Amino acid sequence: MNFDITNIRKDFPVLSQQVYGKPLVYMDNGATTQKPQIVIDTINKLHSKQNSSIHRGVHYLSEQITEQYENARKIVQEFINAEFSQEIIFTSGTTGSINAVAFSFGEAYIKPNDEVIISEMEHHSNIVPWQMMCDRKHAKLRVIPISDDGELILDEYRKLLNSKTKLVAINQVSNSLGTVNPIKEIIDLAHNAGAKVLIDGAQGIQHGKVDVQALDCDFYAFSGHKLYGPTGIGILYGKEKLLFDMPPYQGGGDMVECVSFEKTTYNSLPFKFEAGTSNYIGAIGLASAIDYVKAIGLENIAAYEHKLLTYATQKLMQIDGLRIYGNARNKISIISFLVGNIHPYDMGMILDKMGIAVRTGTHCTMPLMDRYEIEGTVRASMVFYNTFEEIDKLYDGVVIAKSMLE
Ligand code: PMP
Repeated sequence: MNFDITNIRKDFPVLSQQVYGKPLVYMDNGATTQKPQIVIDTINKLHSKQNSSIHRGVHYLSEQITEQYENARKIVQEFINAEFSQEIIFTSGTTGSINAVAFSFGEAYIKPNDEVIISEMEHHSNIVPWQMMCDRKHAKLRVIPISDDGELILDEYRKLLNSKTKLVAINQVSNSLGTVNPIKEIIDLAHNAGAKVLIDGAQGIQHGKVDVQALDCDFYAFSGHKLYGPTGIGILYGKEKLLFDMPPYQGGGDMVECVSFEKTTYNSLPFKFEAGTSNYIGAIGLASAIDYVKAIGLENIAAYEHKLLTYATQKLMQIDGLRIYGNARNKISIISFLVGNIHPYDMGMILDKMGIAVRTGTHCTMPLMDRYEIEGTVRASMVFYNTFEEIDKLYDGVVIAKSMLE
């Protein structure tokens, strides 16, 4: 497919607006991505013409929407190449997915003195649920350190693995540094030590093809809203055998087979993990976002975003006193930076007045900020609808902000 940026931008109505009288330059895609018209239309149509609760109805609307919901599951299955559709659990997002595993896997498999390995560059969503689980189960949390460039130190990881390691939970891509982690190697090493692996794919799924069978990961989590889909919907992939043996983590409607006051039996997979009225509008909206991304082509997306990263890095590095945090050899188009002693909030606020949306602060990675002994960074996260001209505007904006703040 011909990668036509002008047409692509037209698909995203949010992008064509002005803020403070300036064209919006949206570079906060690490936090959430904008939605193409097809996703907006899908959700609108569902609400205006097709809405009905799934699974429990015998009437037309309910049957139709149930079919769309289960079809959405198949679209996700195919997208990440899961073996079975019941390995795809709809959750509220990456956070929901990780908490589900931390509770359910934790209940089933974690015993006192067992160990869980995470890394220094994890998002709070991939730290706190494990801390809570370790507290509950009297297990220990171990942390893989990173190098100054923002790469995992694999030799240290190898040293941490031992017979007590039950789970390794690692992000595929760091939201603060842009580092792409060698997850295949991480998974293989964990498996050799007898541990299971959860991949936090919140920042990975939208930047390249994910194949859970080739990776051989045990769990993979991601959010719809970072993949051009709606908020409040996410995916937990888990290997069938594991999910089958894990207990449900929430009780309620739809996750049961038979309920009496004496005893309740649970529904089969995947419903065992989808208690209550699920976010079927979100799930179907996510499927339409996946269709959209597939039509553009993940290879085209990755190639274009790599050009954006190279251009932006070279351009920003021309600014005297600018330091980039995260210089891994394998990176996605996220640039975290500081300029001299300028506070990231001050920089972010001045850029905002120029219409440039970046994120400032710790990016939900406080331990990582501690590692670099900084309070936070300015983060420009770019995706396939960003342009080289927008990078020029970011550069100009940083230069102006620097002259005002220094
Ligand atoms: N992990 C990573 C690496 C993230 O970037 C994020 C979102 N910033 C999350 C987890 C949590 O995602 P959500 O808030 O959509 O659950």
